[in-house]
Amino acid sequence: MAREIYAYRCRRCDTMHYPFRMVCSGCKQNDFFEFDTVPLPKNGKLLTFTKVYNLPAQYEVATLGLGIVELDNGMRMLGQIEIDDPKIGMPVKGSVEVVRKEPYDDYYGMVFRAA
Ligand SMILES: [Zn+2]
Repeated sequence: MAREIYAYRCRRCDTMHYPFRMVCSGCKQNDFFEFDTVPLPKNGKLLTFTKVYNLPAQYEVATLGLGIVELDNGMRMLGQIEIDDPKIGMPVKGSVEVVRKEPYDDYYGMVFRAA
């Protein structure tokens, strides 16, 4: 089963949010938790990126690419990038994968690769 990361759509004004907010940024009068979950699109274009060289010990890699991607529905999200030669504006394809391991937990996030 493909894993998803969800956005939150306001039931009153349809404004989409990611990550979760307690109050809608559109109508600003939403009661708590009046959101429907909607899977985020996985494809988009790379807006900007960086490479992290000094990682906490839980990351068992030497360096980690991070990027901000504008998804196909216009929302933006931060994810890991596994792209040898990233370019601003390039199309990318995401998948939800384990991005960090702790002794008793796996943490999932979006990993983007060249589309
Ligand atoms: Zn709203």
